[in-house]
Amino acid sequence: MKYVLVTGGVVSGLGKGVTASSIGVVLKACGLRVTSIKIDPYLNTDAGTMSPFEHGEVFVLDDGGEVDLDLGNYERFLDVTLTRENNITTGKIYQSVLEKERRGDYLGKTVQVVPHITDAIKNWIEAVAVIPVDGKEGPADVCVIELGGTVGDIESMPFIEALRQLSFSVGQDNFCLIHVSLIPVLGVVGEQKTKPTQHSVRELRALGLTPHLLACRSAQPLLESTKEKLSQFCHVPAGNILNVHDVPNIWHVPLLLRNQNAHHSILKQLNLLDLATPPALQDWTKMAETFDNLTESVRIALVGKYVGLTDSYLSVVKALLHACIACSLKPSIDWIAASDLEDCSAELTPEAHAAAWQTLKNAACVLVPGGFGDRGVTGMILAAKYARENNVPYLGICLGMQISVIEFARSVLGLESANSKEFDAETPNPVVIFMPEGSRTHMGSTMRLGSRRTLFQTPDCITSKLYHNSEYVDERHRHRYEVNPEVIGTLEECGLKFVGKDETKKRMEILELPSHPFYVGVQFHPEFKSRPGRPSALFLGLILAATGQLEAYLDRHQNGS
Ligand code: GLN
Repeated sequence: MKYVLVTGGVVSGLGKGVTASSIGVVLKACGLRVTSIKIDPYLNTDAGTMSPFEHGEVFVLDDGGEVDLDLGNYERFLDVTLTRENNITTGKIYQSVLEKERRGDYLGKTVQVVPHITDAIKNWIEAVAVIPVDGKEGPADVCVIELGGTVGDIESMPFIEALRQLSFSVGQDNFCLIHVSLIPVLGVVGEQKTKPTQHSVRELRALGLTPHLLACRSAQPLLESTKEKLSQFCHVPAGNILNVHDVPNIWHVPLLLRNQNAHHSILKQLNLLDLATPPALQDWTKMAETFDNLTESVRIALVGKYVGLTDSYLSVVKALLHACIACSLKPSIDWIAASDLEDCSAELTPEAHAAAWQTLKNAACVLVPGGFGDRGVTGMILAAKYARENNVPYLGICLGMQISVIEFARSVLGLESANSKEFDAETPNPVVIFMPEGSRTHMGSTMRLGSRRTLFQTPDCITSKLYHNSEYVDERHRHRYEVNPEVIGTLEECGLKFVGKDETKKRMEILELPSHPFYVGVQFHPEFKSRPGRPSALFLGLILAATGQLEAYLDRHQNGS
C-alpha cells in the first residue's frame, strides 16, 4: 500500500478536502485504484451528534456511518463507496483502546498515548486502507489520508506522531506527504507572503514529518519568485510546489494539479511511475468546462432550517448541480429560512417575510431538505402547501416528506392539529410517529441509518419511471420518525399515494400526489448517492419538472430511447 498524506497549515478552511480528493482524482486518472481516509481529531465518536450549523452536513454512508462531509467529496470525486471506518476520530480511537483496556488485553501495562493510542491509529489506518471501495476485489494501490485540522493543534498531535511512525515503517517509497498551506497577499503592493507557510512547514518538520510537496492556496497564481522562496525556505523542490489558486468551480482543481504535473511528482515519490499511465481526464475536463459555459439557469427554492451555512446542505447542493448539468442548466439556489415564511415573521420581521414569499413565488420548484427539531417547521408546511396548491414541482426529503404528510393531513383531511410526534408529543393526530426500534435515551447512531431497500408498489408512478422502471431502489436513510402506518389508508383515499414502501410494507418510503405535475416526498436521502455525470433520479425529476421537460423525458424513456 502506498500512502499520500495531506496535512494543512496556517488556517483551517483552506479546501484541504477538495485538494486531497482532487489528488485522488488525478491518481485515479493515471490508472491507479485509490481509496481514502479522513482523520478528524475531535473527540466525537462520529459526526452524527454534531450540529450542521457548526460543522456542515452529516454525510451518511451505505453502511450507516454518519461521517464528516469530506467523505462525501471523496465519494463524489472518486466514485467510491466508503465505510464508516474510513472516517477516524479521536473518539473512535480512544473507545477502541479503552475497550481493550477494560477487557484486560494490555496485560497489566500502563496504557498511554504513546505507544497505545498511536499504535491503534496506525493499525486502524493499515486495516482500513486495504478495504476495497471501488467495487473491485483486493486493496487499492494508493490510500489518500487527509488529516483534519491544522498542524500544531493539540488534538492532532497523537495522529501526527502515528503518521510519522507509519511513514518510517512503510518506508520512503510508500509515503508521500503533501502540505496544504495559504499564501496571503498583503498591502497595496500585493506581495505574496510565504512566511506563514515557512512557519507551518517548520512546525511539521519539528514533529518529524517533511513535506514532499506543497499545495499552496492563493487567490491569484503564484509568482515564480514566490515559488523559489518557498522552495528554498521549506526544503521542497520548486517542481513540487503546487499552486491551487481560486478557480471558477471545484472540478477545475484536478485539472489544475494535472497541469502542474502533480501526478508526476507524487508518482515519482511513490515509485509508481512505471505502473501509471498519463492522466486521462477528458471527461472531467468536459464536465468542468460545461459547467463554466452554462448560461441558462433554473431557480430552486431551498426551504430549510440551516440556510445560514450552505455546507449544512452540501450534498443537496451537489445533487442539484449534477441534475442541472444533465439538463444543461445552471442551478440558481434561493435559500429561504423556513421561519421567515411563517405568519409570526410577518409581524416581527415584515421585510424578511415579504422577501421570503417573493423568492418562493419566483422559484420554478421547491425543495424541503432533511432536518431535526421544530424550528421553521411551520414555514416548511406553508411552502409545501404553496407548492401543492399551485402545481409547483416539490421534492421533500426525509423531514420534507414528513412535512408534506402533515400539510396534507391538515389541509385536505381537515385535521388541524395533525403533527409529527417530534414537534408535538401530545398531538391528537400523530401522522408522523417515533419508530419503535429507536432509542429515547441515546442520540448517537441510534437512528434508522444507511442503505435500505424501497420497493415500488406500482410501476405507474413518476418515481418508478425516473428510477428506470426498476422494482426497487436502495438509498441511504437517517431518521427517527416515520409516517404513521395507521393513517395511510385515509391519506390514500384522499389522493396522497405511497408508491414506495420498505420490505415489510409498513414503512412509507416514497409519496406522490398523482393529481400534481411533480409532488414527491422521500423518507430517504437521494442526495448522498448522486454523482457528477450520474445525477440522482429524483433531483433530475425535480429539475425536469421545473423546466417543463419531465413528460417528454419520461416518454422518451418509456420508449427505450
Ligand atoms: N427529524 C426527522 C426524523 O428524525 C427527519 C430526519 C431527517 O430529515 N433526516 O425522522
